Amino acid sequence: MALAIKKVGVIGSGQMGNGIAHVAALGGFDVVLNDIAADRIKSALATINGNLSRQVAKKTITEEQRKQALARISGAERLEDLAGCDLVIETAVEKEDVKRKIFNELCSVLQPEAIIASNTSSISITRLAATTDRPERFIGIHFMNPVPRMELVELIRGIATDDATFEAAKEFVARLGKQVAVSEDFPAFIVNRILLPMINEAIYTLYEGVGNVEAIDAAMKLGAHHPMGPLELADFIGLDTCLSIMQVLHEGLADSKYRPCPLLVKYVEAGWLGRKTQRGFYDYRGDKPVPTR
Ligand code: NAD
Repeated sequence: MALAIKKVGVIGSGQMGNGIAHVAALGGFDVVLNDIAADRIKSALATINGNLSRQVAKKTITEEQRKQALARISGAERLEDLAGCDLVIETAVEKEDVKRKIFNELCSVLQPEAIIASNTSSISITRLAATTDRPERFIGIHFMNPVPRMELVELIRGIATDDATFEAAKEFVARLGKQVAVSEDFPAFIVNRILLPMINEAIYTLYEGVGNVEAIDAAMKLGAHHPMGPLELADFIGLDTCLSIMQVLHEGLADSKYRPCPLLVKYVEAGWLGRKTQRGFYDYRGDKPVPTR
């Protein structure tokens, strides 16, 4: 039987978590926002308020909607606080062991009918589902970054996902005003299967000295009409996330064409993860981004 979703839990208050909480609250859902780090919850709430205020200034929402949305979101430092949620969306770091541990703890807290979703960019939904006590009530709900602006959400059924869960997820996404693309459960799904090898190739182009950061980004913006250059986009996604997705493609499809560029590995090893750490292919610490190569 389909469960009416009223209260939504979000695990992980990073760039995706705050966006998901934002759109869910605007869509009228009560939201409980969790993170392992309490300061992350606080800064996510501040970011959501800032982004909602920007929408008010642009007149895409009213001041009343901003207030109501903020009032619907509560921060929760413990997973136990997600007990009453009908749907919980996990959006913690892209590491399978971390996600497994979260699901393990979460299952004992939730009511049996509650749906668990993962916002993973690349990890097998079937494999994640199998670590839970409810593979039939487990689904991939993959948002795009930045969540409030992007129209698409990919829905990925695991092998066991039942029709009621799929329909409930579809309805949830529709209530957020977003469009669904259904993807089969293969590594990195649709958008990232196509996008990440292009970004990885841009990093190889830099690594092999074919062009510098500025030339590569200008080439794809002006020569292919991409709204952002691939290196700028990599910084925006997070270089650790980009590397994880390439590793999943490489291992999952066992094809050398997906091997992560050694330069991407080096940036991640340096902790230069893009915008979130203020340095990646660009340095964001000054007034305007400066290429680092
Ligand atoms: P992020 O690094 O900005 O945020 C991750 C958050 O998870 C951090 O705040 C961290 O403290 C928290 N966290 C870590 N372990 C935790 C735990 N055990 N319990 C609760 N919280 C924990 O990362 P992000 O970019 O928001 O990515 C999150 C997820 O969304 C990943 O699975 C990623 O693949 C996916 N995703 C990312 C993008 C993107 O463009 N960045 C797009 C779609 C999906």
